[in-house]
Amino acid sequence: MDKYDYDLFTIGAGSGGVRASRVAASYGAKVAIAEERKLGGTCVNVGCIPKKLLVYASHFREDFEDAVGFGWAVGERSIDWGKLIANKDAEIERLNRVYRSLLEKAGAEIIHGHACVLDPHTVEINQKRNRAKYILVATGSWPTLPPIPGSEHAITSNEAFYLPNLPKSIVIVGGGYIGVEFAGIFHGMGTQVALVHRGSLFLTGFDQDVRETLANEMQKKGIDLRFDSQVEKIEKTKSGVRATLTGGISLEAEEIMFATGRQPNTRGLGLEEAEVKLNEKGAVVVDEYSCTTAPNIYAVGDCTNRRNLTPVAIAEGRAVAETLFNNNPMKLDYTNVPSAVFSQPSIGTVGLSETQARERYAAIEVYRTVFRPLKHTLTERDEMIMMKLVVDRATGRVVGCHMVGPEAGEVIQGLAVALTCGATKAQFDATIGIHPTAAEEFVMMHEKMADR
Ligand code: FAD
Repeated sequence: MDKYDYDLFTIGAGSGGVRASRVAASYGAKVAIAEERKLGGTCVNVGCIPKKLLVYASHFREDFEDAVGFGWAVGERSIDWGKLIANKDAEIERLNRVYRSLLEKAGAEIIHGHACVLDPHTVEINQKRNRAKYILVATGSWPTLPPIPGSEHAITSNEAFYLPNLPKSIVIVGGGYIGVEFAGIFHGMGTQVALVHRGSLFLTGFDQDVRETLANEMQKKGIDLRFDSQVEKIEKTKSGVRATLTGGISLEAEEIMFATGRQPNTRGLGLEEAEVKLNEKGAVVVDEYSCTTAPNIYAVGDCTNRRNLTPVAIAEGRAVAETLFNNNPMKLDYTNVPSAVFSQPSIGTVGLSETQARERYAAIEVYRTVFRPLKHTLTERDEMIMMKLVVDRATGRVVGCHMVGPEAGEVIQGLAVALTCGATKAQFDATIGIHPTAAEEFVMMHEKMADR
């Protein structure tokens, strides 16, 4: 009998676990993958995909309003929230089936249940012990609620995707990308939205111009942004909740949603008993090959709390499979990981913010443009686009690209390739634009900003 039941036992069938398992199986490894909820993990079920579908849904309100400027007569409009959620759920179920079929076709065995590590080579699931040469922890993360009185009356993003009714008003707490995106979603649907953030401006870590532009645009739309504020307690009222903020101000709404943080799913997994070290936030400590402090246990994705994004989890999962089963040690370069915030208007970003670049380089050049998109010359919408390039003066290399405006993620994805190739500002300038687009401005920014 073989010493091991499996070459790889993956815990968690989300973005990272599924990719690692499929690639490992394609190299001939005997793979099992455990999932206690739904295949596809956070991204497919309560993350990127349903979120983007709701962003599309909510944007129609402005699209209908803008259509009038182009001669369309648009009649009565209303949103059927129940229908939207049912359609979204049907699409997610389809994706769950796609994930199942991808894993099955690759030859990975799917085991439904809660898996637990017993020792460096044993995983227990459904009272059965499985011996594995390698174990991959890909258990993701879970939203947390702060320990304040009344927090049991609050929802998180998990519940927001399944609300039975569209609330007339909502308080969203948290200035990370999830809070900002949901503020746009609910506002677009017609809900009255207040966004509460403890700092002086949301989206910490993003470029300052990006943060200020978005705050300005969201305020113009009528979203009530409450910075330097914290919720101290929540009480139930007849029609919903009352949130008391620092300073005694209270906000009443039908719902209150917290998007203030996520906790790596590492508790009760038996990791410490298997010599796997966790950091103070509960994230699995890994080296650059995603190997934990136990030499045959690896970890990828949100449970390691590196860059908590789906494409990163996927790339980390693939790298582990290459390293272990294709004799091809692979590690990730995290320097130019692009990302988008599907706020309204959206953000796309790659590379360094101006502040980060100033810390990193002796001298930088900044190019920025703010303009009204062509589309809105015929509408009444007062929404601006902001684009920005940050350049290392010594080498001329573009080290940061930032955009606030429609389809910013689509635009920045292409520019991420350029940055990965080390493109210089001179090469941006030598590139011919596509006219008339907003993106062409990225190759036509000739005026440097004065040093600041
Ligand atoms: P997950 O996808 O979370 O998968 C982990 C899986 O492990 C889960 O299915 C869980 O049920 C399972 N599991 C946990 N413990 C056990 C156990 N003991 N036994 C069995 N199974 C277990 N990223 C983007 O790139 N773009 C976006 O637009 C974006 N939007 C987001 C919006 C929201 C609201 C949220 C919450 C996240 C968003 N993300 C986005 C982040 C993205 O979803 C995560 O980074 C990604 O899903 C992480 O993948 P993962 O494989 O690490 O974990």
